Amino acid sequence: MSDQKWGAEAQPRPTDMDTAEHRVLFDQGREPEPAGQDPPATSPAQPEGDGDHDAGGHDEGSMRQVDDARLQILDQIRTLEPIELPLAEAFGCVLASDIVALSALPPFASSAMDGFAVRASDIAAAGPDRPVSLKVVGRSMAGHPPDATVGAGEAMRIATGAPVPAGADAILPVEHAWLQGDSVQATRAFDEGAYVRPSGQDASEGELLIPAGRRISAPELGLVASAGYGSILVHPRPRVAILATGDELVEPGRQAPFGAIRDSNSFTLFGGVRETGAVPVLGGIVKDEVDELRDAILGLTTRSDCFISSGGVSVGERDVVKMAFFRRGDVAFYRVAMQPGMPQGFGNVEGRPYFGLPGNPVSVFVSFEVFIRPALLKMMGRRDLFRPEVEAILDTDISGPVNKTVFARVRVRREAHRWVASSTGPGQSNLLSTVARANGLAVIPVGVETAQVGDRVRVMLFRALEGER
Ligand code: AMP
Ligand code: MG
Repeated sequence: MSDQKWGAEAQPRPTDMDTAEHRVLFDQGREPEPAGQDPPATSPAQPEGDGDHDAGGHDEGSMRQVDDARLQILDQIRTLEPIELPLAEAFGCVLASDIVALSALPPFASSAMDGFAVRASDIAAAGPDRPVSLKVVGRSMAGHPPDATVGAGEAMRIATGAPVPAGADAILPVEHAWLQGDSVQATRAFDEGAYVRPSGQDASEGELLIPAGRRISAPELGLVASAGYGSILVHPRPRVAILATGDELVEPGRQAPFGAIRDSNSFTLFGGVRETGAVPVLGGIVKDEVDELRDAILGLTTRSDCFISSGGVSVGERDVVKMAFFRRGDVAFYRVAMQPGMPQGFGNVEGRPYFGLPGNPVSVFVSFEVFIRPALLKMMGRRDLFRPEVEAILDTDISGPVNKTVFARVRVRREAHRWVASSTGPGQSNLLSTVARANGLAVIPVGVETAQVGDRVRVMLFRALEGER
């Protein structure tokens, strides 16, 4: 069977989606992104081509369901041991121990205005027509201890952020004060505590500021800095070695003679890895030679916590990834009931997770999204492993093999208070531009041959929806 027959129709059908009953193409009683649940019922696996040129001759006769394959992978992924990192490097990482306030935050009472530190009771009777005169006894500047204390009938000049001197309990802003020689006239009354930022208002000493397990984003990074930490214990970013296999491949930017294919997979994976917060390590292109691939991978072990290769996991005679690892027993090759991305390899090499992806560029993208991204997030200690999803109404038909979960490239937009998804093009797994135009993958479940205009589907969003509303 050819993969040409599958794919979305190019144009939306002239159906009135508003009057249609929306067929729901997912189990509504189920969490959108299942974890640990039974796979949907499936028809028996049939050998079918999907652009990953499988000929039905994989190691295991039956296909694994997507959710099962993903759970099996995630089960074998370990979170990296925490390390202490300086704040700038810890940004984006998951905290491995609680952060508590080592002292009160803010550590001292300070002024919220430029003005005069006073006793509120001294100026209680002040007004524009009956100013109260106070003696200026000193000043308090930001970054310095006050050079005096404030007694009855006294005031001290004070700058924003400067410590409130002992004896004062309110700030008289400059707007309501006249300085005359060594005294100041208050022209308004202020309550006790006015414009004083009390010590411990943000947190008291010993208070939990950020619990372990929280990802350090901008506000958290600022908070740990203000709490006095120069470094924090976090789960580190995995270094992820990326290799492309194929005699036909050339690096982008080089001359590509007829028949050559530019290595795009390494860069799709680079971007995907980087976006998770992990560190991509480009290992380059290796020829379809078993020893060359093995050497390349083993040569990267000291620099990597995880490996990804693309290509060479099918049943062609030069499918080197299988030949390199099949006999070692540490990488399993199997078929997943999904389109694209059916042939997959997963295991470990030198104690590090190894993902052997199919070669087709869209299969690489989808496999990364479905299997590798959650695995990398787990290595980094993240608890939110899956992409956010929306339920969207299709405005194009999308067809695919009935016995597989189809991940269809769609563009989702907000329209009349609901999400609408349009296919971005045909479904063949070499058409990378269809991914570049998309912002989501519609999940067409096993058992559905054609998801039709008006059907409701789950869509995994792989980009922020900025500008889509
Ligand atoms: P393979 O699984 O190695 O047989 O590759 C399947 C298809 O993907 C072939 O058309 C390859 O040329 C193509 N392909 C493999 N690796 C890459 C790559 N790194 N970049 C772009 N296309 C690739
Ligand atoms: Mg190949």
